[in-house]
Amino acid sequence: MSNPKAIKSIVVAGGGSAGWMAAAALSTAFQGTDTRITLIESEEIGTVGVGEATIPPIQAFNQILGIDEGAFVRATQGTFKLGIEFLNWWRQGHRYFHPFGRYGDDFGMTPFHQQWLRARFHGDPTPLSAYALTEAAAYKNKFDRPPADPRSVFSTFSYAYHFDAGLYARFLRTHSEARGAIRIEGKIAQVERDPGDGFVRALRLESGQRIEGELFLDCTGFRALLIGQALETPYQDWSAWLPCDRAIAVPSARMPDPPPYTRSVAHDAGWQWRIPLQHRTGNGHVYCSGFVEDDAAEQALLANLDTAATGDPRRLRFTTGMRAQAWVANVVSLGLSSGFLEPLESTSLHLVQSGITKLLAWFPDRDWDPAVRAEYNRQVVREYESVRDFLVLHYRATERDDSAFWRHCQAIPLPDTLAAKIEMFRKNGRLIEREKDLFHDASWLAVMLGQGIVPQSYDPLADIVSEGEMQAVLAGMRNVIARTANAMPGHAAFIDRHCRAAEAQAA
Ligand SMILES: Cc1cc2nc3c(=O)[nH]c(=O)nc-3n(C[C@H](O)[C@H](O)[C@H](O)COP(=O)(O)OP(=O)(O)OC[C@H]3O[C@@H](n4cnc5c(N)ncnc54)[C@H](O)[C@@H]3O)c2cc1C
Repeated sequence: MSNPKAIKSIVVAGGGSAGWMAAAALSTAFQGTDTRITLIESEEIGTVGVGEATIPPIQAFNQILGIDEGAFVRATQGTFKLGIEFLNWWRQGHRYFHPFGRYGDDFGMTPFHQQWLRARFHGDPTPLSAYALTEAAAYKNKFDRPPADPRSVFSTFSYAYHFDAGLYARFLRTHSEARGAIRIEGKIAQVERDPGDGFVRALRLESGQRIEGELFLDCTGFRALLIGQALETPYQDWSAWLPCDRAIAVPSARMPDPPPYTRSVAHDAGWQWRIPLQHRTGNGHVYCSGFVEDDAAEQALLANLDTAATGDPRRLRFTTGMRAQAWVANVVSLGLSSGFLEPLESTSLHLVQSGITKLLAWFPDRDWDPAVRAEYNRQVVREYESVRDFLVLHYRATERDDSAFWRHCQAIPLPDTLAAKIEMFRKNGRLIEREKDLFHDASWLAVMLGQGIVPQSYDPLADIVSEGEMQAVLAGMRNVIARTANAMPGHAAFIDRHCRAAEAQAA
């Protein structure tokens, strides 16, 4: 017996990371039912081909899909990621680390960092970074899977992955097809809409083939064939806050001992990423075309590679921002068709994951209740705004005035939500957390402090713990973190033992 209003046919338009993540999740969710999942993609058009660094929630996505971590890392030539190192962002020559996981462990009635702040106010110069296990491990090139014991210091540890985006899509395709998803190769030439309610009824391919569906997922990348071109949903341009609008990507040779973190180096008019994989290194320069010519941006990228380039640089253009509504009529946009906030904190694939999770939580039936759509859209906007605020912080809280671009960044208008957060933190280190915030205290702390925003005081409740106890706990925490990081296996050794890709072994 099944619900007569249940949707039986879902069409995914596009087979990049977004399309295959959606197909993998839906084919897993609907496995064994009579709901059909069809994905259309065009090899001739291809995919954007970037998107190689992630954040920790992707572990949960893989777990829901029932994916074995070793097999996944092997298949995607992946490495482990413990955070992001930022160079030259606050000032030239300065560096800080955004670690995954937490700083220290809370004690007393206040968050851990309040005790650290209190110690600092009493003259202890130890940086907060001394209390991040992930950062200690990252800089020693170490990695291990944390044991489940919540009493262990490992409970403060978290990680994500770097992987080859093309191999990831292929991996998810195998997963989806094994669960009944149907892939159709072809170019979508026309989007057929119902003249009455405007809903999409079918996609017509160049070959003439017509693919009908009830629910359509627009995963066609920057083209946004359904949500943008057919349904004409406006795109909200956020470049006043996030001014970079171009990127150049280039692969280079693998690093002999790939570090377990992404590096982001600020340049004169943008920044450069370095993502170490098993078989190569991904590099790219994200920049603002108003402040540097494309050729000069390419030269800056090539002059700052750690290993020799192994392919031609590829140029990409984008406008930061998002669709006014991610879900319109019976079309839900996921991935680049729904928005792009630039890759500084590796959030795009997460926003795809989160869009899919929300869609499953608010899955429609044939009544197409507008309240369901409205709630979905509200949550998507909220999450994009929280990511936007976090990214703006990196640019805005700079003291660099050595180029026109960085002077421009110092004048970026602060979104009200971010202004309130900075002001509160500056006073006594308290962090305002809002609904659907993707990044939590440790991330905000890392970037606020890393960008030179230092609280003028600390939470008075921190004084409830005696000074002796505070000093003892802090010292104990530093020791246990240093010991634990030292005892971990090397990152490369861990990969060799548990998830080395066949191609890398042969090389
Ligand atoms: C410079 C840059 C760096 C990035 N770095 C990161 C990162 O480190 N981490 C991260 O999480 N994200 C990153 N991203 C974002 C990430 O790449 C994307 O979010 C992700 O790859 C999803 O892309 P997509 O599937 O929406 O689009 P695409 O990869 O462009 O896929 C679009 C699909 O639609 C198909 N298609 C389009 N038109 C048609 C048609 N007419 N007929 C049939 N098929 C069609 C294409 O063939 C393709 O299969 C980055 C993005 C950029 C631009």
